[in-house]
Amino acid sequence: MPAPHEIKGQCLCGAVQVSAMVDNPIVRACHCDMCRQHGSGPFFSLQTIADSIAVTGPATTFKSSDWGARAFCSTCGSTLWYELQKDGTRNLSAGLFPDAGGGTLMAEYFTDKCPQAYALAGDHEKLTTRETLAVFAPEYLEEYDGQV
Ligand SMILES: [Zn+2]
Ligand SMILES: [Zn+2]
Repeated sequence: MPAPHEIKGQCLCGAVQVSAMVDNPIVRACHCDMCRQHGSGPFFSLQTIADSIAVTGPATTFKSSDWGARAFCSTCGSTLWYELQKDGTRNLSAGLFPDAGGGTLMAEYFTDKCPQAYALAGDHEKLTTRETLAVFAPEYLEEYDGQV
C-alpha cells in the first residue's frame, strides 16, 4: 500500500485551493439525479483520509437534500465536494486534482439512473439505487420499495 501523501488541487479559476492526504485513493462515480443536475454527468469523488482536507478561497455550500450539501466555487462554479449532513464528511470532486488524484475507479452508485448516453468501462462495483440505499441510507429503503 502506498504511503500517505498529500495531493493538491484547485477549481477552474484557481480561487479555491484544496489539499488532502491519500494513501490508496479510491474514485467513486454517482449517477443520482442530483449529481447529474449539478454537474451534467456522474459526480466523480475521491476518497481521502479523514479530517485531512484543507480548503482556502470562496467556497459556497448549497444544502441539496435533508442529508447532504454540495459546495462550489463562488467565482467559477466548479463543483468542489459533496458533504454528509450527519457527520460532515466531505467527498472531494476528483476533477479538482490532476489525474483524479491518481485514484482508481472502484464503485458506481445509482447505476439504474445512468442515462443511455454513456457508460463507464471496467469491472468495478456497480450498485443500483436499491443497493446504494442499502449501503448508505437503509432508513430510506422501505419508502423506496413502496414506490417501485
Ligand atoms: Zn473557481
Ligand atoms: Zn449522486
